[in-house]
Amino acid sequence: HLQNVGFIGLGNMGSRMANNLIKAGFKVTVNDLNSHVLDKFSHMGVATKKTPFEVSEASDVVITMLPSSAHVNDVYTGPNGLLHGGKLLRPWLFIDSSTIDPQTSRNISSTISNYILKEKKGDFEKPFVLDAPVSGGVIAAEAGTLTFMVGGSEEAFFSAKPLFFSMGKGAIYCGGPGNGSAAKICNNLALAVSMLGVSEALALGQSLGVAASTLSKIFNCSSARCWSSDTYNPVPGVMEGVPSSRDYNGGFASKLMAKDLNLAAESAKRVGCKHPLTSQAQKIYTELCQEGHEGKDFSCVFRHYYTGMDE
Ligand code: NAD
Repeated sequence: HLQNVGFIGLGNMGSRMANNLIKAGFKVTVNDLNSHVLDKFSHMGVATKKTPFEVSEASDVVITMLPSSAHVNDVYTGPNGLLHGGKLLRPWLFIDSSTIDPQTSRNISSTISNYILKEKKGDFEKPFVLDAPVSGGVIAAEAGTLTFMVGGSEEAFFSAKPLFFSMGKGAIYCGGPGNGSAAKICNNLALAVSMLGVSEALALGQSLGVAASTLSKIFNCSSARCWSSDTYNPVPGVMEGVPSSRDYNGGFASKLMAKDLNLAAESAKRVGCKHPLTSQAQKIYTELCQEGHEGKDFSCVFRHYYTGMDE
């Protein structure tokens, strides 16, 4: 009962993930607000639908890959949304891979737990929801090497593994509803701060006369080594094949990082957790967006240290 898969949200990530499901032999039905992208899929012979509700009517499983919480709420509970059909649903599983706040994931999960299946599917009588955001970005989405962080029923997680492994190389079960979303925003918070730490240290080093390439070599065999220094170095010319070597084009947009930091800050406030570095990082990435770099890769935060200085 994984054969008919609905896919909603065919943007940078979703279009590539849907393509990998098609390649793996799933019968995929798609929807997006953007008619151009729908036409593309239609020309490839893929079934397209005008609304999320029509996708749900055609699918056993529905995957969503949308920009933010508001879009996810709209696709689930809006007019002609996935739940438009009343308390009876065809899909036995809903997987949301968008990066959204854990509270929204939990709300959707509790809404759907009040529904029942039109037809009993295997052992299941009620539909399941998994929050399953990804790490890896557009290149990993294309190559089918994403990692899924999954919250919700463990039984549903095991049943959904063939889908995860058609789009990715890993799937980690994180616990109950919302825990996948929580894991994702915590990962991106740590990444945002580590990128800032590496950028600030390399900018200071350069100002003190040590070349960024020399300092990076030292970091990479010392205790400052991290992904931001050895895999995704933010200083142009230190590494090849990373966004900093192509004027920060491609990669993970600053505006998405700012969005994820907003989610982390909101979640921290909700649970009363101290978050001084989240607040500082949120402020810096937001400024970066306001300065017009919202579409550039987030490692362009390195440049922030030179704004207003003679370069
Ligand atoms: P995107 O903006 O390229 O794509 C989103 C798609 O959703 C668009 O095609 C849009 O038309 C569609 N959409 C919006 N509202 C809709 C609605 N109501 N009904 C149907 N379709 C609708 O975004 P993306 O880069 O693919 O990212 C998707 C999610 O994945 C985001 O939450 C993002 O934070 C997360 N993410 C992105 C990356 C990345 O590198 N781009 C990496 C990891 C996670």
